Parts: sequence; C-alpha cells; structure tokens
Amino acid sequence: MVTKYYPTQLETFRQCPLKYKYGKDPEVRDKYRQPTPQLFVGTCVHDALEVFFDITRTPMAERTEAKLDHLLRRAWAGVDLWPKRKAQRLEEREKIFGTDQEREASWGKHALNMLHRFFLVTDLKAVPFTAEQFHEAKLKSGIVVAGKIDRIDRMPDGSMKIMDYKTGKPPFKKDDASVAADDLQLSTYAIVVRKKYRSPVSRCTLIYVAHDEEVGFEPTDELLIEKAKLIEETVRAIEAEEEWAPKQNHFCPWCEYRAICPVGEKIEPADAKLDEDLDVPF
Ligand code: SF4
Repeated sequence: MVTKYYPTQLETFRQCPLKYKYGKDPEVRDKYRQPTPQLFVGTCVHDALEVFFDITRTPMAERTEAKLDHLLRRAWAGVDLWPKRKAQRLEEREKIFGTDQEREASWGKHALNMLHRFFLVTDLKAVPFTAEQFHEAKLKSGIVVAGKIDRIDRMPDGSMKIMDYKTGKPPFKKDDASVAADDLQLSTYAIVVRKKYRSPVSRCTLIYVAHDEEVGFEPTDELLIEKAKLIEETVRAIEAEEEWAPKQNHFCPWCEYRAICPVGEKIEPADAKLDEDLDVPF
C-alpha cells in the first residue's frame, strides 16, 4: 500500500519526531488525544460552511444568515453525517460538555458569532470548485502527498484559489511573506492542485473566520520547488528515523502527549495559568 503523507503530519515531525510517532500509534493517540471545545467548534463550522457553499444542497437563494445558523446546529447534532461519523460527533460532544448545557450553549454561541461575522464579509455568490474534499498527487520523487482542502475556487482567469478556514486566532506574524515562508500545508495543497488539475494556482489563503482576516501568498514556481524539496527531505528523514527523540518546542504546553513524554511531563500545560486565583468578582 502506498504511504500518503499529509502536510500536517510532516509539520508535526519537523516540530517533534516523538509527537509524530505518538500520533501514528492508534492506541496512544486514542488514549491521549482528547476532543476539545475548540476542535469541536472548528469541525462544526467547517461542516456548516461546506453545506452552505454546496449549490446542490443550498441553492443560492437560500444562502441566508438564518440558514447558516441552522446548518451549524445540524452539524453540532451530527444530523447530516454518516451513522459512524454521527456517533463519533455525539460521543465527542458528550466527552467535552457532558451535562453542562450552559457551557455547551456558550461554545455554540461562540460558533454562531463566528459564522455571523464571516457571513457579513464573505462573497455569498461564490460557487466553490471543490469543498472539504480529499485530494492527492504523486510528486516527481514518487512521494504521494494528500490533504483535505477546505475550499478551492476557480478564478475568472481559469486559475485556482486555495482556501483554508481557521477558527482560531490569527498569529501575531501574519503578513503574506511570513505565511509563505513558514507554511507547508497550503504550498503542499498548491502542488497537489497543480498536478491534479493541471491548472495554475494564483493564491493560497488562510481565512480567519472569526476575525474577518485573510492572509496568504501567490505560490510561485520557485516557492513550490523549494517546498517540494522540503517535503522530500522530511519524508526521507521520517523513513530513516530510528530514535524518535522528543524535541522541546514552542507548542509543548499544548501537546496531548505531555503526560507520557520525558520532556513534556516537566512542562506546564498551556491553560495552567487560567486557574490563577484573582481578586475579581467574576
Ligand atoms: S511535549 Fe513537546 S517534546 Fe514531548 S512529545 Fe509533545 S511536542 Fe514533543
């Protein structure tokens, strides 16, 4: 069977080989990777936008704010999902919120607010070329790269625009040049789309749904050659890896495997300071 490499996995390996190894072990992954409200909201927002922009499921005349709200609620309840995915969604919901309806409602409102802001700034007439679809392509090196791309639009000049929805906060450093330099995910998608559809990609963008912000870059030939090289180097490093050593990094406080990692167990979790005892009336 051909091994497919996903850009997020490649980024994880570059960040920390041990984290990559933990993530590839289904037993470890299922035990330590717990669903979070942030991830749950992200998944539901993606699902709602997928149906909203799918012209076969939401005709243009029905693209209203109320419809988007409704789709978010359906996603939250897992209504449009296959039975297995629906069961997973409900299980995640149960694990995250339990019987705390107030907390669940507060996250639900957060998701709705995010979509309301997005609704005000987005092009409601857009008809994506593909949405939330898996794509893959074989590189010259023989390596197969794949990914689920949130949205691809075909532009009037025939080129493609790749979009990735983000439901978190935009990073501090968010100009086009820094995104192009740091990113591996969008450039991998650009390589895949160019190969698969034999069509130029004119822009790759990250859309911060809750913040009305869009940041991205034009994937030039030079940039994509450089990123293809980086993909190949990373895959070869994974294939040759034997030690799987922990590599302490900026993201350790958020790592799901801190409890079993020899480095991570000494690192304070990211939300530890949220329990600080402050003298305020709320
Ligand atoms: S806590 Fe840090 S060092 Fe340990 S596995 Fe996670 S990312 Fe790697």
